[in-house]
Amino acid sequence: MKKVFIFLGPPGSGKGTQTSRLADKLSIPHIDTGSLLRKNIQDNTEYGIIAKSYIDKGQLVPLEVVSNIIKDRLTKDDCSQGYILDGFPRSIEQAEALKDILDSIGKFNLKDDAVAIYFNIDTEILVQRLINRRSCPKCGTIYNLISNPPKIMDYCDICDTKLVTRKDDNEKTARARFETYEKETAPLYEYFKQMGILKEIEADNPISEIWENLKAILSL
Ligand SMILES: [Zn+2]
Repeated sequence: MKKVFIFLGPPGSGKGTQTSRLADKLSIPHIDTGSLLRKNIQDNTEYGIIAKSYIDKGQLVPLEVVSNIIKDRLTKDDCSQGYILDGFPRSIEQAEALKDILDSIGKFNLKDDAVAIYFNIDTEILVQRLINRRSCPKCGTIYNLISNPPKIMDYCDICDTKLVTRKDDNEKTARARFETYEKETAPLYEYFKQMGILKEIEADNPISEIWENLKAILSL
């Protein structure tokens, strides 16, 4: 039975839903690196303070600082039976750092205890989903012009307000985001594949189907 679950997938691939379900099923923590970093900053932890000093200067938080925050989290009691990593690693360099973290903790190791689950989805599908998304500025209802259109074009079914496109939903932003993702993740895919710990899941499926496939892949 694997203990360390690494989720790889583009934003909007439904990865978040599946990680939460898996965390519930296995009663292990879901460690989302973004939230972890924010929490350390909020709590003024030793590394949180260092991280904030970089963010305040508009700089990226160095990998060494992120590694220390992650290592600190992974040594907590609730991680003793395993954990799900989401958002880390995102590059080969980070994967190497994760290997070092696990080696220094000495409990689990990547090759024997980890599985990397790659959410395979054509990013063009995700771009189309994003650019067809409309939301109601008044009540917050989300529509999709293709899969879930409003009854009257451009107007909210519930409160009749004119729908808007969120600024970050525009095509150019969406494409740039996925390009960055692909550039970073492609080498990581190969890295885990060569290590023999990569599993792929078709992510252009309904949520319940992805979940069934995920359980099958992990023999749960
Ligand atoms: Zn509305």
